Amino acid sequence: MADLLDTPVTALNGVAGKRAALLKRLGISSWLDLMTWYPRAFEDWSSATPIDQLQDGIDQTFTAALSGKVQSHRKGRLTITRAVFRDESAAIRAVWFNQPWVADKLKADQSYRLFGRVKRRDGEFSIQSPSLEVVEADSKGKIRPIYPTTEGLSQGVLRSLILPLLQKVMTNIPEPLPFWVRKKHHLCAIDYAIARIHQPESLDEVEIARNRLVFEELFLLQSGLYLLRRARQNSQIGIPIHLSAALHSRVMQTEAQLPFQLTAAQVAAIAAIRRDLQTDRPMNRLIQGDVGSGKTVIAALAMLEVALSGHQAVMMAPTAILANQHQQTLEKLLAGSGEPVALLTGATPAAKRREILKGLADNTIRLLVGTHAVIEDKVELPQLALTITDEQHRFGVRQRIRLSRSEHEKTVTPHVLVMSATPIPRTLALILYGDLDMTLIDQLPAGREPIKTYTARSGDRERVENLIRKQVAEGRQIYVVCPMIEEQESVDLESAVQTYNRLAQDVFPDLSVGLIHGGLKSSVKDQIMLAFNAGELSILVSTTVIEVGVDNPNASLMMIENAERFGLAQLHQLRGRIGRGPHKSICILMSDTDDELARERLRTLCQTTDGFVLAQKDLELRGPGDFFGTRQHGLPDLRLANLYRDREVLVAAQETAQELFLRDPDLTEPEHLAMARALIRRFGETFQQIQL
Ligand code: ADP
Ligand code: MG
Repeated sequence: MADLLDTPVTALNGVAGKRAALLKRLGISSWLDLMTWYPRAFEDWSSATPIDQLQDGIDQTFTAALSGKVQSHRKGRLTITRAVFRDESAAIRAVWFNQPWVADKLKADQSYRLFGRVKRRDGEFSIQSPSLEVVEADSKGKIRPIYPTTEGLSQGVLRSLILPLLQKVMTNIPEPLPFWVRKKHHLCAIDYAIARIHQPESLDEVEIARNRLVFEELFLLQSGLYLLRRARQNSQIGIPIHLSAALHSRVMQTEAQLPFQLTAAQVAAIAAIRRDLQTDRPMNRLIQGDVGSGKTVIAALAMLEVALSGHQAVMMAPTAILANQHQQTLEKLLAGSGEPVALLTGATPAAKRREILKGLADNTIRLLVGTHAVIEDKVELPQLALTITDEQHRFGVRQRIRLSRSEHEKTVTPHVLVMSATPIPRTLALILYGDLDMTLIDQLPAGREPIKTYTARSGDRERVENLIRKQVAEGRQIYVVCPMIEEQESVDLESAVQTYNRLAQDVFPDLSVGLIHGGLKSSVKDQIMLAFNAGELSILVSTTVIEVGVDNPNASLMMIENAERFGLAQLHQLRGRIGRGPHKSICILMSDTDDELARERLRTLCQTTDGFVLAQKDLELRGPGDFFGTRQHGLPDLRLANLYRDREVLVAAQETAQELFLRDPDLTEPEHLAMARALIRRFGETFQQIQL
């Protein structure tokens, strides 16, 4: 049965040693892997231009048969090779200079594919030194698959492995899609799809095959995510958080004393969290809100609720700077609630650390903020009921799972809240967070002045510096962001250190300028951030260490050096450090690049501050990988599906997956057995990993 497809590729003739290693590098180890190694593109030979349609003076490809003899002769030190090729429409003369081996390659009546610049004079065609390739007589289809490959493994080798194997296993390929699913979405059968994707007769066939395979890929994915979510919901017991009327009114009081009025989106997010916290199922919720949308206060109120009920809550931040800042913010927001907020980072002195650990162990400290590295390691939280991960995009999906399960108390699972500013379009979120509930904060606090973004070149530097001076005179603060810490081989890169020296000594000797970068000790970084937040520094030169979460509402201008070196998402995150208060904010993207794609990115950034629009745009410009750092996310590796192009299929696949489990919750019906097997094949490891 399906087992035949588990046969290792090394069982094939000619696959051993180096070739086996190369295949392995591609992730191909079984026959099934080879069968599902889908082409990335197709060469369409059927529509090759007839010779009489070739145009003068441009590079073209055409197919023609060698006609007559090849002539090769020497003229002094020059070897000249001549041949004539012909198709049904016309003939073309070809000539090569000093390429005597061409003559050996050419065989009478054999068809070749030629590529080169064609000359057309008075209805006569000629071509000089074309490159050429044999068209195999037995290549049945005129559509030829081009496989993704790696150096040392040619298309020819891949084809020579895939095509014969196809004949051999064709009837053994199991059909995972239930018949009703195929019928509903008009999808062809698996054997047809696999055969046609590797050996199509026309591009229409490719399309039919691809449609089906893309659906299958996304359907399996969505079904797997559904199972993960269900298993979680069924197997885990949460800690219901209930507050007495008196305690509840203390929460309300704290809320009323906040320094601002919550936005409707914030109110809705908090309400959703409170509902989750009250049930005995562990919450698993993602709060997604663009930079500056006010996620911290939501975390603060959730944590307070938990602490007042006598349980513990921790918040994890990706950097010490951010952990520090969060601890201060929480203390401020929760002042008056009577709950202290402890901070644990790598910089926490040993004595202080011991004191905090003791307080946590005896539950006198119920609120903790820290970097995740510190929190994970032997911190005892006997009453832990809520973990919050800020800036989720900085952690991986697996890490999220681990964090939520690494607690002292194993019989119950704490509630989990993750917060992310990464603007993920709905389609991608479905995949990344398919097993999470999602709340969107689609509103910025009122009274924000939109950030104005401009591009500038080196020649504008003086004007930009005047602007900085003016803003500082008005009491505002400035970020200057540089891509690298030290000068590296690319000499044109402005390093943070150099920029700092120039600004502090030459340009603004009269202003207080600070420097922060990843190479500094974390206690030093904290001091610098504190000084900047307290207004003691007017200008902060930095690397991207300030990218995430840093909050100084008085900062109103950001200048980004070599802006073309940053990705769109990163620029958006960086820019989110300004425009966080009532002041008009300006972001200046310094760049001298003339690269069209880079300029397009910078232009896009000038046109919108909406992270979701930017995400969508970036997805269009470059595909999902770059923006989100798919590796960080643990985004499943998709062979054929493209999350942008196939977003409608993704939604259809999700709906159909739901229908599948509604019809047959445990996939025990005979018509669903193959699907169940495919799911185990695809997700078995994942299921084990999280010990469902
Ligand atoms: P992010 O969603 O990026 O984490 P923060 O929670 O850091 O945003 O909030 C950004 C800034 O907006 C902070 O200075 C915060 O005090 C302020 N803020 C949050 N909510 C509101 C609100 N409803 N009205 C006014 N300001 C707010
Ligand atoms: Mg934040």
